[in-house]
Amino acid sequence: MIDLKVITSKIQSIDRDPWMKKELAIGFDVGGTHIRGAIVSHDGCVLERFRRQTPTGGHPDLLIPILVDCTTVFRKQYDVLSGIGIGAPGPLRAGEGIVSHMPNLEGWRDFALQDTLSRETGLPVVLINDADAGAIGEHLAGAARDCPLFAYLTLGTGLGSAIVSRGKVWTGSRGFSNEWGHIPVFPDSGVCSCGHPGHAEAFLSTRFILNEYGLEAMGGSPAGISSPVTVSDVFDRDRTGDKVAAGIIDRYGSALGRLIATIAIALDVDWFILGGGISASCDRLMPLIMEAIRWWGFPPLTDGLTIRRGALGDDAGLIGAASLVMHRKIRDSSS
Ligand SMILES: [Zn+2]
Repeated sequence: MIDLKVITSKIQSIDRDPWMKKELAIGFDVGGTHIRGAIVSHDGCVLERFRRQTPTGGHPDLLIPILVDCTTVFRKQYDVLSGIGIGAPGPLRAGEGIVSHMPNLEGWRDFALQDTLSRETGLPVVLINDADAGAIGEHLAGAARDCPLFAYLTLGTGLGSAIVSRGKVWTGSRGFSNEWGHIPVFPDSGVCSCGHPGHAEAFLSTRFILNEYGLEAMGGSPAGISSPVTVSDVFDRDRTGDKVAAGIIDRYGSALGRLIATIAIALDVDWFILGGGISASCDRLMPLIMEAIRWWGFPPLTDGLTIRRGALGDDAGLIGAASLVMHRKIRDSSS
């Protein structure tokens, strides 16, 4: 487990010094579509941002140089940096700094990301699951500051998930816990990004939205990543009365509600924080989520759930990852 109580207390007690006097670290987030980075201060403020498209395929040989170049640029501006915290899609062996597999990127099987990036930059590096990083960010500085127990779901290229309980991120015995996107209880879904049928992520991904829209509205050809239609376009078309877009979003929202009911029943969690790009459309999704919870739920555990959009947007994972490297002793002693 990653204990956040010490980090929280430091953030709350920190003096509002000029940022030049504060401890700083880099936070990175490696995603299926973009690589993002930021300089984050000790008290959770983002000072600089970096964003670049993930190279086609996302192979480490293409991606590592981008991270190194970004670090070099940041170091020219901020000469005292504690290190790099990097969030990556699971599953990964965070304690060993190894990415086991990235379903949406090529060439990452058992890749030693932490050691490789540390060697290339000369800085300490801490690797963390990207959803865990987002949960830490929201707990320290965002929508979950007052939540002792909550689930964090990232709605994007895939579905990331994390559980924070009593100030600790639950990472499981090998660091693989909370891969809720791969829970196999959706028999009517297609094939998941991991290759198996019936997983939640087969519905809850940008791939689902684009592929379905391509099949149903664009002449039978899956839209896929290279399509000129984006997920944002699909939501825009829904707002202007596109029935195909509306049907796909309805299925997405219903599947999300069913997953939230499943997590609530399994773990007795009553707070859910939604992050990731699709969470920007929370208002559209919320009635679908609540209807699905009523339909699929188990009232003693699913009545009165609180579902809230994250407050930090794309910054949550960057803040969480950077905060962790600034307090790596906590992680090392508790994971
Ligand atoms: Zn899967």
